Amino acid sequence: MTGFLPVDALDTPRFCGLPTFMRLPQAQAGDSLDAAIIGLPSDSGAPYRTGARFGPGAIRAMSVMLRPINPYRDHINVFERLRIADAGDASVVPGYLEESLERLEASLSSLVDQGIVPVSLGGDHSVSLPAICAVAKRHGPVSLVHFDAHSDTWRSYFAGKQYSAGTPFRRAAEEKGLDPFSSIQIGMRGSLFRADDVSQSVDLGFEVLTTDETLDMGPTETARRIAERVGDRPVYITFDLDFVDPSNAPGVQTPEAGGPTSRETLALLRALKPMNIVGCDVVEANPLYDGPGQITALLGATVALELLGLIAVGREAGANG
Ligand code: MN
Ligand code: MN
Repeated sequence: MTGFLPVDALDTPRFCGLPTFMRLPQAQAGDSLDAAIIGLPSDSGAPYRTGARFGPGAIRAMSVMLRPINPYRDHINVFERLRIADAGDASVVPGYLEESLERLEASLSSLVDQGIVPVSLGGDHSVSLPAICAVAKRHGPVSLVHFDAHSDTWRSYFAGKQYSAGTPFRRAAEEKGLDPFSSIQIGMRGSLFRADDVSQSVDLGFEVLTTDETLDMGPTETARRIAERVGDRPVYITFDLDFVDPSNAPGVQTPEAGGPTSRETLALLRALKPMNIVGCDVVEANPLYDGPGQITALLGATVALELLGLIAVGREAGANG
């Protein structure tokens, strides 16, 4: 299987060429792909810092640093296991959240309908709702694995509005896009607006692991809890970069002090067991607030590559049928 490999950085320098993810080929109509990178450049759902519309571009720019072999998963080359291309960005209507979410769902559905696993780059966290709805139309309600400092299960945000970066997983549960009783949230921490900001997820049916619980348990036990929770059901993984401590990931909408380091974060992702991933995303990268060296965008790209590796090993474990 060839034809969908990143440009070889030993042959063509990293600063040359088109800025697709890892300089993968651009997806063409009729390509028979296993997975596709797609940018979801909407920040119309951001209650605080806007700028995540520039997240996909920032992540792609730093993804040139990544190399194809994964030493944490038996040295697989994910691009020899899966046919992956960059499908570009979905279109949005800036400032009009509901219209943007409709456009995102249409773009994602066109991938999912071809049997392609979408690996999305946000965008603020509101973009996960159309992504979950798109995969649920094909696979039924998914099990959500949600890395975030915040639960994002609020009833509404500002004037009773239903859609925002703070509400996608309550909406997804209500719209039968996900099954909270086989879903898990990891990383909740920090001060709250109301006493039930975290327990509201438990009330919906989610299992919740706080940052403290996760760091106390360590990556192996956390990964075991996640695997036990989702079983062999179709899984959607969403990764909000504010899961990570702001010292390691400053370029986000809503930074939350006291989080895992990038090393602890990657150790957890590398400990995850093969699962039946039908979609995933890395969201809330905001280059307008990133540190010198674009460290948040680099971490976002690294997380996306780890998720691609996890998709590959999940397929080989037979989880994806
Ligand atoms: Mn979030
Ligand atoms: Mn968050």
